[in-house]
Amino acid sequence: MEIYSVIQKLVNKAIALEIIQKQDEIYARNQLMALLGLDTFVEESDRNGSEEIPDLLEQLEIYAVDKGLIRDLLDEKEIFSSKLMDVFMPRPSDLNRTFFGKYNENPEKATSFFYELSRNSNYIQTKRIARNLSYKTDTPYGELDITINLSKPEKDPNEIELEKRMKVTSMSDYPKCLLCIENEGYEGRIGHPARSNHRLIHLDLKGEQWYLQYSPYVYYNEHCILLSGEHRDMKINRETFERLLTFVEQFPHYFAGSNADLPIVGGSILSHDHYQGGHYDFAMAKAEDECTFSMNRFSSVKGASIKWPMPVIRLRGSHIAELTDAAEFILNKWIPYSDPSVGIEAYTEGTRHNTITPIARFRNGEFEMDLVLRNNRTTDEYPLGIFHPHQDVHHIKKENIGLIEVMGLAVLPARLKNELEDVKKYLLGEKYECAKYHLPWANGIKERYGTEITRDSVEEVLKKEVGLKFLRVLEDAGVFKRDKTGQEAFQRFIHSLNE
Ligand SMILES: [Zn+2]
Repeated sequence: MEIYSVIQKLVNKAIALEIIQKQDEIYARNQLMALLGLDTFVEESDRNGSEEIPDLLEQLEIYAVDKGLIRDLLDEKEIFSSKLMDVFMPRPSDLNRTFFGKYNENPEKATSFFYELSRNSNYIQTKRIARNLSYKTDTPYGELDITINLSKPEKDPNEIELEKRMKVTSMSDYPKCLLCIENEGYEGRIGHPARSNHRLIHLDLKGEQWYLQYSPYVYYNEHCILLSGEHRDMKINRETFERLLTFVEQFPHYFAGSNADLPIVGGSILSHDHYQGGHYDFAMAKAEDECTFSMNRFSSVKGASIKWPMPVIRLRGSHIAELTDAAEFILNKWIPYSDPSVGIEAYTEGTRHNTITPIARFRNGEFEMDLVLRNNRTTDEYPLGIFHPHQDVHHIKKENIGLIEVMGLAVLPARLKNELEDVKKYLLGEKYECAKYHLPWANGIKERYGTEITRDSVEEVLKKEVGLKFLRVLEDAGVFKRDKTGQEAFQRFIHSLNE
């Protein structure tokens, strides 16, 4: 490998992408050389190439492993690459100054700038994300998004073992979690991601210090994370609604939502208060109003239930304060609400089950707040949750139905990639078996489509059927079902808001 040429190409790429300026060239090159253990630079003829930054970083990782600078372990390679890219990154204070300079011209300019920087710096893992299989599929509720998540790198058993040993021997709980602000610029270690090239934007949300970053594994356009400066539990309350609305007031082109604050119906991290947002219209955002209503306590707020597999109350209004009041009022009505006729029980033995997944946006000149009603009760029949994907859809999805799924994007496990290939062959009669847990589903498809399944159509059939399964997942997670009984029960709750 011509190491000097790889270094020069990386510097050239950083200049071309405007991560650094031409004036920074020699400085940056010297910093990279130091990390690579080189004390001299040799001009090589091959200075320009078509390789992208992730490819160049991979070449430098191989060099570092060969030279014994790092071990051939995923985490050590990531730590190394992240340090290499940090050479090009502005200091947090400089970044924030640039960001808010652009923000004052136009908020969209500021987020585009930061998103591009987060991608170009390889903090967002663009190359890995490109492996995901993503498509849209039509359903009676609009186009749902389906993603088979293949972006998570696989570790070999030795690395997993090493990680376990490190966790046992390491006394460190620094940073406390993946969302703590102490990750900014943190080198990383075995079992904790490399964050040398990670930067945060400082936000003030109703007098509290919050931070904006992008998700390293974006699932949709400009998938961002808002996190509290304080490591504290997720909580859905008045302040949540107020902060979400304040954020979309500051960034009207973004939506912002929060996972619920209870297990089963919440996200994977409940221990650090955070929200997710982005520049993307999910199917749920496009869903139409079904029944409109007014609330006599909040005369300026308009309410509606929408056409969606899960029960959603959509509030609209011009003022953050009034919408916050109305959302808080509904939350307080929902928390103790029981309706045994549809299996909703607010408490069992003092344990609370009701909560809300809220999503805020600014549209057509007014604020919107979607409140998705949730309940996490379990029974012997449904040990994972009554309002959670049921047994017969677990072959596609059995994880928590959090904010992203609720809005209409299925993030499905990597195993499905190969398994669906097998199902395809099974449907075409090229193979006589597929994973046992897919069999009832595959046989059902065979029956329903019959001879319509051909080599040309099988792909589309399967995409559509996965989409319909995901729809079932959402219906299972809904506390009020879409049938007559469920919708009447939903209306009873809405009526109770004016009692
Ligand atoms: Zn934390």
